[in-house]
Amino acid sequence: MGTVVEATNQGENGNVTEQKPTVVFVLGGPGSGKGTQCANIVENFGYTHLSAGDLLRAEIKSGSENGTMIQNMIKEGKIVPSEVTIKLLQKAMQESGNDKFLIDGFPRNEENRAAFEEVTKIEPAFVLYFDCPDEEMERRLLNRNQGREDDNIETIRKRFKVFMDSSLPVINYYDAKGKVRKIEAARPINEVFESVKAIFSTKNEKAD
Ligand code: UDP
Ligand code: MG
Repeated sequence: MGTVVEATNQGENGNVTEQKPTVVFVLGGPGSGKGTQCANIVENFGYTHLSAGDLLRAEIKSGSENGTMIQNMIKEGKIVPSEVTIKLLQKAMQESGNDKFLIDGFPRNEENRAAFEEVTKIEPAFVLYFDCPDEEMERRLLNRNQGREDDNIETIRKRFKVFMDSSLPVINYYDAKGKVRKIEAARPINEVFESVKAIFSTKNEKAD
């Protein structure tokens, strides 16, 4: 038996069959509500929530050799090399024991996306996209007071630009494949979750 992420089984006829986990990418600009809504999805639909940003911040705290590099990139709103983020995601998937994942805040650029598919051979079931105007995201980020080094106006502006330039193309890529489920995110948490629930309740989870 392989790991959850690269699971292989001997089928009845001796052929090797793959059992891949279900992955939903949760994307949207900084402050669009990805983390908040992921917590709601976990409670209601049995997914494991993996925030790429949280995994990177934990990696900094752990005193890893990459810590300083990651910290500098986050402070500048830049995208950490795929290799680092993908390793953290794979490890978290393996350790979870689950086979359904919300991957929040990743892939952030085309290179992240292609590298993840190449390394894990996993394609997302769908992409949940929280669409929110910059002014609303800016207001939320400046009010959330989580002590994050990147929630200051200079870094926020950089993060918006990186989202527009690098992350939106990933959403467009999946949109062209019919995989994007777009949510109007500039609404109260409960209202947004009603829209989210409708998506997870329909039988599109396994669509590919
Ligand atoms: N980050 C990254 N790669 C990822 C996810 C996050 O490089 O796959 C870095 C990037 O610098 C980003 C920061 O971590 O600006 C914070 O990401 P997070 O998703 O936590 O922020 P959010 O968008 O949720 O506010
Ligand atoms: Mg987040």
